[in-house]
Amino acid sequence: MTTVSKYIASPERYTKSEVIYNRCGKSGVLLPKVSLGFWHNFGQEGPFERSRAITRFAFDHGINHFDFANNYGIPAGSAEETFGRLMDEDFRPYRDELFISTKAGYLMWDGPFGDWGSRKYLMSSLDQSLQRMHLDYVDLFYSHRFDPNTPIEETLQALVDIVRQGKALYVGISNWPLEPLRKAHAYLRERDVPLLIYQGRLNMLNREPIEQGILDFCHGQGVGFIAFSPLAQGLLTDRYLDGIPADSRMAKEHFLKSERRTPELLSYLHELEAKGKANGRTIAQEALNWVLEQKGVTSVLVGASSVEQLAQNLAIMK
Ligand code: NDP
Repeated sequence: MTTVSKYIASPERYTKSEVIYNRCGKSGVLLPKVSLGFWHNFGQEGPFERSRAITRFAFDHGINHFDFANNYGIPAGSAEETFGRLMDEDFRPYRDELFISTKAGYLMWDGPFGDWGSRKYLMSSLDQSLQRMHLDYVDLFYSHRFDPNTPIEETLQALVDIVRQGKALYVGISNWPLEPLRKAHAYLRERDVPLLIYQGRLNMLNREPIEQGILDFCHGQGVGFIAFSPLAQGLLTDRYLDGIPADSRMAKEHFLKSERRTPELLSYLHELEAKGKANGRTIAQEALNWVLEQKGVTSVLVGASSVEQLAQNLAIMK
């Protein structure tokens, strides 16, 4: 049996690392330009020691924003459980240096109260997330999607009350259309719980937040924007250039289908590869750089299945 050494964070995590922190909208919060997401690879589906190595590497290099949702991991909830163990074994002394987010909005448990945007669901889901992560509070709690069948005021008041209860320091919304986003912004501002951040899918292959005016709105109103799947789940990397690796997300044929690996994609990747060579960047770095160049983007939220991938992604800050 291998023994894992007690974790002492690198004393150089802020001095020698290349991390750049961006102000999140017009708030007091600074977030790293590259943040780490725990959607895939960190639940029971991945070896715990790999999750630990990636998380330690991130923190040792100044990446202090970790993003979760109630349903991350296989089975749902297990990514938060992994992090609960990491909190106990590695990160407890560093709690005040970490910015931890979680969300509720997609199906998490059976029956009418385990999905969408009711007060009942959001409040109980956050309590469950805190238990799984062994935390007293999260730094940021999101409504994970807009619920057209619940009064918008009910969802938003739940977010306000969660902050008033001290269970989250800030609130955000994710995947909400523009009009409800406008309403959310106004509602929350009137109650002195300003909308900190919007989380949306933005990458070179999917520009909806730009096309729909969401990024512009956030930028104009001083709301931060964090881009999820900035590598299009791995499509915008060298991962699929020569086939579909057995350990890749696409090989699982669930969230990333093999039909996405089209001749058009491959020729786009070859162009990106050539452009990257000229700029001294990999395909992934070109893709991340593009997202970070969009006006109003605070941070890119990357996933990783190895320390090497994360290291390559962090290097765009150099
Ligand atoms: P990415 O677009 O960054 O894709 C990550 C995947 O790309 C990795 O798992 C890996 O695939 C591959 N990869 C990453 N870096 C490299 C590299 N340098 N070279 C080659 N391959 C690489 O993001 P995700 O789709 O994972 O999303 C990131 C985070 O965003 C999530 O963890 C979550 O926190 C958040 N999110 C939020 C959503 C929302 O609705 N709010 C929805 C989706 C994500 P492989 O595993 O195959 O090696």
